[in-house]
Parts: sequence; C-alpha cells; structure tokens
Amino acid sequence: MEHAELTLRRQLIDTCRSFGLSGLSQGTSGNASVRWQHGMIVTPSAMPYERIRPSDLVWMGFDGSRRGRRPPSSEWRFHQRILAERADAGAVVHVHSPAATALACLRLPIPAFHYMVAVAGGDSIRCAPYSLFGTETLADAVIEALDGRTAALLANHGQVTVGVSLDAAYRLAVEVESLADQYLRARTVGEPRRLTARQMREVLDRFVHYRNGTLDDLDGGPARP
Ligand code: 13P
Ligand code: ZN
Repeated sequence: MEHAELTLRRQLIDTCRSFGLSGLSQGTSGNASVRWQHGMIVTPSAMPYERIRPSDLVWMGFDGSRRGRRPPSSEWRFHQRILAERADAGAVVHVHSPAATALACLRLPIPAFHYMVAVAGGDSIRCAPYSLFGTETLADAVIEALDGRTAALLANHGQVTVGVSLDAAYRLAVEVESLADQYLRARTVGEPRRLTARQMREVLDRFVHYRNGTLDDLDGGPARP
C-alpha cells in the first residue's frame, strides 16, 4: 500500500476514534469515508472503532469494484452517492450524536434560530424522512436533504455531514451537534425566534469573507499586507 493511502487510512481511523472522545457516537454506531482514487475508503461494518486497523478499511470504486477483507459500512450507499455526485465532497461523516439524534427523532429540521446554522450552507439543516438503515431509499433521502447543504439530520437515526476533508466533515458534525443541543434547550422554554431569510443571506455572504480572512476589508478595517 502506498504511503499516501496509509496516511489517509490512519486519518480515517483517528477521525472515528474522536467520535467516541467527543461524545458524537456510541459503540459501533456511525461511519466515515474519504475520497481515494476514483472511489472511497470507508469504515468496516459493525466493528468497534478502537479495534479498527488500516487493513480493516475497505476501498470501494465508483465503478463497483472493491478491495478489502471486511464488509464495508452498511451505509456505503449514501457515502458513495455523496462522493460520486458532489465535487465539493472529500469526506463524509455519519454519527448518532445525542442532540442531533433527539431532534431527528422528533423529525424536526434545525431552522434559522441561530446564525451558525449557515455553517451547513443554507438557512436550515433539513431532516431527511425515515428509511431503513443501509438502503438505497435512505441514500436517496440523504442526497435530497443535502441538496445545497453540507449537513442533514436523518429521521429517527442521526446526522450526516460532508466536508472537503475528514477534518472539515468531523468539525461540521461537532457544530451540528452543538446547534441541535442549543435548539433543543431553547425549545424547552419556548419557540426560539427565527432569523429572517434576508438576515441568513447576510450571514452566508459574510461567511465567504470569514473563510477567506477578508472580514476586516468588508468592514473597512485594517488593510491586509
Ligand atoms: P455500520 O457499522 O455498518 O457502519 O453501521 C452503523 C450505522 O450507523 C448504521 O447507520
Ligand atoms: Zn447510523
């Protein structure tokens, strides 16, 4: 196995181990994948993360070919569809994190109750309708819920995030969990006030500068060298 592939496999395992450390997933729930050579490297099915070794990961080509001694994650269909259909996707993370899953069990999306909802690319984080885990129907629902977004909740199941890298997809999953937790807390007291479509558009525009490091220029702040 070439060095770059081994490095990527190790990164994938580290990402999955951090699910447990950050409370994003329990037991063998959740899975992750990363783009590699006209396909993806994906976690094996039903294997505790602390036991996974680089050779346990499975490579699946977009043409249906496969390399590996373990069965791939039962959710390989939505991982593969996302990576094959979206040029912006370098990695996919799926977890059953507590707050996001609680909201998903209520079949509620995360609305524009906080400006950070825009972190997933729009003015809400949708909740995909329920489908049995591991099915093509679930993959269809995930693709639809992710349209124009990088995160979605899955009804009675969990959440899924997309990133340019494993780190980006992982950090987004942490963000979605935090937003779900804040939304649930606010809802215990009342229905949170929503930002308007215009306010969310402003946030989305500003995020472009935030990510480029040009926020100061926007405000007439100090000129950059
Ligand atoms: P796998 O162990 O097959 O990846 O399944 C876990 C899961 O979260 C299914 O949705
Ligand atoms: Zn799952």
